[in-house]
Amino acid sequence: MSPTIDITTVEALTENIEERRAFVLTAHPDDSEFMCGGTVALLTAVGWTVDMLIATNGNKGTKDPRRTPQMLAAEREEEQREAARILGANEPIFLGFGDGALRADDELRGLVVRQLRRLRPMLVITWDGFRPGFNHRDHRHIGQATYDAIWPDTDDRLFFPEQIEEEGLEPHRPQMMLLAGATEPDVYVDIESVLETKVRAVSAHFSQVGRTPEQLMQAWRERAATEAASRGEDTSDLPRYREAFRRIEWPRQPRRRPPLRTRRAR
Ligand SMILES: [Zn+2]
Repeated sequence: MSPTIDITTVEALTENIEERRAFVLTAHPDDSEFMCGGTVALLTAVGWTVDMLIATNGNKGTKDPRRTPQMLAAEREEEQREAARILGANEPIFLGFGDGALRADDELRGLVVRQLRRLRPMLVITWDGFRPGFNHRDHRHIGQATYDAIWPDTDDRLFFPEQIEEEGLEPHRPQMMLLAGATEPDVYVDIESVLETKVRAVSAHFSQVGRTPEQLMQAWRERAATEAASRGEDTSDLPRYREAFRRIEWPRQPRRRPPLRTRRAR
């Protein structure tokens, strides 16, 4: 039997979240547009502040022998800035690791903890770093580092204490995390109304996207229809485009309880 599918709007999804601040953490320039560009556009449209962190500089991923890694990295950072502008997000934060070189180690976790304490998001969106089967190495590592950074590290002043003592940051705990690329998503955000904005944001990544916005839109519509049909939904009407996530929530009170785990987490 297939699991219950929760199709929702961003307003319903975030109705219990106390402050409108979201933070999207990804591995590469273009990840955030593909995985949650629609959700980000919907959030910023209703007044959310959305920050983005891109852990690598995207200095690989070209078939053009004339392009050096440095040229590609500069180009991809600029593409990411334009995509963020289109979605209404803030200027992205780039950690500058080499493409393919991410590791979910203490260094990366500390860098993520610092940004979580600085930006204080209530909603965090990242890759599912724990999904079984194939997963891009960098996606796995940023997903795991973010997951581990949120709890317990960010909320405990004895983790990375120099950030508290020397940089004046304070512990923080988000309320909700959405994991993209999950094998078994449990929430689907309806992004039909901003699909065109998402296509424009993805298309800002010229160096990576070999299709026109119209071709992209057509391909996504066909995929949405195929996926809806495979779930046994009626597709005679326009297939509505969605972004799929696995949701994790942390209780606000009492403060000392561990997080509510997902079914798969141990
Ligand atoms: Zn990626």
